[in-house]
Amino acid sequence: MRKIYLDNAATTPIHEEVIDEMADCMKKTFGNPSSTHVFGREAKAKMELSRKKIAEALQVSPAEIVFTSCGTESNNLIIRSSVDHLGVKRIITSNLEHKCVKETSLEMGECRNVEVVKVKTDVNGSVDLEDLEKILKSSDQKTLVTLMHANNEIGNLLDVKKVQTLCEENAALFHTDTVQTLGHYPMDLSELKVDFASCSAHKIHGPKGIGFAYIKKSTRLRPQITGGGQERGLRSGTENVYGVVGLAKAFEMAIQDLDKHKTHIESLKKYTIDQLKATIPGVEFNGLSADLEKSLYTVLNIRLPFKDALIGFELELKGIAVSQGSACSSGAAKVSAVIESILTPEQIETTTPIRVSFSCYNTKEDIDALVGVLKNISEKHLVPH
Ligand code: PLP
Repeated sequence: MRKIYLDNAATTPIHEEVIDEMADCMKKTFGNPSSTHVFGREAKAKMELSRKKIAEALQVSPAEIVFTSCGTESNNLIIRSSVDHLGVKRIITSNLEHKCVKETSLEMGECRNVEVVKVKTDVNGSVDLEDLEKILKSSDQKTLVTLMHANNEIGNLLDVKKVQTLCEENAALFHTDTVQTLGHYPMDLSELKVDFASCSAHKIHGPKGIGFAYIKKSTRLRPQITGGGQERGLRSGTENVYGVVGLAKAFEMAIQDLDKHKTHIESLKKYTIDQLKATIPGVEFNGLSADLEKSLYTVLNIRLPFKDALIGFELELKGIAVSQGSACSSGAAKVSAVIESILTPEQIETTTPIRVSFSCYNTKEDIDALVGVLKNISEKHLVPH
């Protein structure tokens, strides 16, 4: 049976070229970048070349790119250090953030006496920017706003430029979790002027265990992990040189092929929406995910008009991998917090959400197979008794 992977927001297959580049580095460049001899210098050179490539693509200084182990660590570093070292006393965030932002913000509330304020979101899961402005203006405590660029479950895109302007007008720091968007959209961070952003290689066909935090130099953020002072003092620990090389290659390829892949994936997403509407009466889509302008093109959150807790299992029996809600951390097939906060209790009772997420490797045949299986499952549920 052919296996079909439609869970690319959870992770992506690694490009062959990335594997080759990493394997070559593993074979030839084993030195510790902190060593002063030639072996170390070679490893250091690979690290710095990688950093430079990424920084150039984002129009920022290489010193503003800090390699970490993943998106989670980048978000933790930014939020925790903003509180610990930059005097942040208030965090404005939303209910729809990834757990690594949500839990970290909550912990800052519980353990560091920080006020955590949740901005309103509407029935589609969009952030209410008027409410954000009201909250920003309601206090002059040192504030960090942390709002994701694209939601990993329903794909809603945030107007980052607008939020940045609001933050600037109100002297707040702005962190945007760009784990689902860096490498998928052209992004000039110097023009966007956010203070912090985050990236994870495994979301863009790179390896797991490596990511970076973008930290604007002027913020003067300080580290969470201390020791040998690697990463210009911002993240100690011997560097994951192979991971960094893989991340830079994946990032370079993502930027190079961005338009081609965006066009391909967008047309697949549109095709999926059209086919589902034509095949399953009553099918709808959660959040703004069916709005091609306002959502991340790699994510579609389908609302099937019947309850089927085993849907993921049934699709898997036919070789198709999707996500029921968000499977990033636990793999648990229960309604996610994001879906819970945008649907009514009745909708939760009577519908089944599944997240389909695409990559450049998906084809129309993958979608035909998915729609075919969903059609059969729907017919079982929707047949009049
Ligand atoms: N932020 C978002 C929006 C994500 O989708 C994810 C992973 O799914 C993360 C953060 C965490 O990234 P990582 O898996 O690299 O820790």
